[in-house]
Amino acid sequence: MAGTHIVVHYHELWLKGRNRDFFLHKLRLGIKRALEGLEVTRITQPGDRMVIELAPEADSTAALTRLERVSGISSFGIARAVDWRVAAGSAAENNAAASASKDELLSPIRDAAWEEIRSEKFATFAVRAKRSYKGFPVNAMAIEREVGGYLFDKLRAEGREIRVRLNHPELTCRIEVTPGPALIYARRHPGAGGLPANTAGRLICLLSGGFDSAVAAFKMMKRGAHVSFVHFWGGGARAGESSVHVARELVKRLVPWEFTTKLYLVPFEPLQREIVRRAPEKFRILLYRRLMLRIAERVAGMDQARGLITGDSLGQVASQTIQNMAAVGAATKLPIYRPLVGDDKLEILEIARKIGTHDISAEPFHDCCPMFLPKAPALFASPEELDEAEASLGVEELVERGIESLTLERYHYAQGIAEQVESFLPVTPTGSGSTRKATA
Ligand code: ATP
Ligand code: MG
Repeated sequence: MAGTHIVVHYHELWLKGRNRDFFLHKLRLGIKRALEGLEVTRITQPGDRMVIELAPEADSTAALTRLERVSGISSFGIARAVDWRVAAGSAAENNAAASASKDELLSPIRDAAWEEIRSEKFATFAVRAKRSYKGFPVNAMAIEREVGGYLFDKLRAEGREIRVRLNHPELTCRIEVTPGPALIYARRHPGAGGLPANTAGRLICLLSGGFDSAVAAFKMMKRGAHVSFVHFWGGGARAGESSVHVARELVKRLVPWEFTTKLYLVPFEPLQREIVRRAPEKFRILLYRRLMLRIAERVAGMDQARGLITGDSLGQVASQTIQNMAAVGAATKLPIYRPLVGDDKLEILEIARKIGTHDISAEPFHDCCPMFLPKAPALFASPEELDEAEASLGVEELVERGIESLTLERYHYAQGIAEQVESFLPVTPTGSGSTRKATA
């Protein structure tokens, strides 16, 4: 029994120039890692496609599900494979093509194309052929004409009112003649799009547990950034009562897109209490945010990351006015990426549902930020006002304390499973002698 062939298409936009080999190498690596543990016989690159050949016993449904999470793929689908050399009736591979008649060569391909489309519903169709193996003696145009004509006659014979349409047909039956078999397929699953994983450099995402920052991280990962996460937590004496478990679940949901990641956990409540005690009430939230950015900047230094990601969306809450985002952002020299800044909440939730973070973020958890919420938060703070408020706080010392108390967890995605692989320091101290006790 032959194995399953999956044809993978990628956008050609990122293939321009000298980076082509680098991106293709990364895409191939992404596919290989995503399919780890499933029996892959080989991955070939005939022309501008990739063809994954699974062993006969491999779970092809699992392979398709996993491929949905490989960024850089525009579409993919299972193909029918026709070994035209055998079909041509000659054992001598080298001159099989030359000696067989056109009709002998095309007849098994036509039959496979018919099987592929006969139960599909469509009113217009086209056949598109590619010949990445030039030793096949019928050229692409002739294949399209022959097979298209054959399918048309068969469909009409069944009384179906269909038309051939070359521009935007409802169904396209594709035929790829590779150095191996000819591949025939009409149904394609949409891929994730984006750029291959880990091609763009490293970033740190401030992950809150809410809907937005998880989606923001995803958007940057999809464009090839490798993202590590920092989560600031408070409330609840144990991890289960705080937002930590939410952050962990989100990271597990996101790691398949990039295969490995880190989660830095910072106990934030002691630091927040200092802000509450010493800074003007109306600036509290903005000062929490600046402190988070300062600590995240230090984490970026440890992680060789070149920028920070937040889930800010313009005007969504008081801290996300243009003025406040500028005043908060002034606390770090690193670029801040806000991929959701122009998105509506509904658009963000739709992505969250698609990538599976929605239900995790929807769980109730203790968010540290609303703690000690000011009655009238400043809507238009300036960087200077916040600098001044921080001056009396000893902000450098707070950053040091944050860094000293952080813990690190590593996650990876292998064999189709996302899990935590190592945990260094305990995230929450157990027992009553808590070192995380509030300082106020
Ligand atoms: P989210 O849905 O991500 O919580 P939000 O719309 O609720 O975003 P805020 O809570 O104001 O907005 O937070 C703005 C951004 O600040 C978040 O998207 C996130 O990047 C960062 N942030 C907020 N709280 C935390 C936290 N506890 N740990 C890490 N980052 C945080
Ligand atoms: Mg939030």
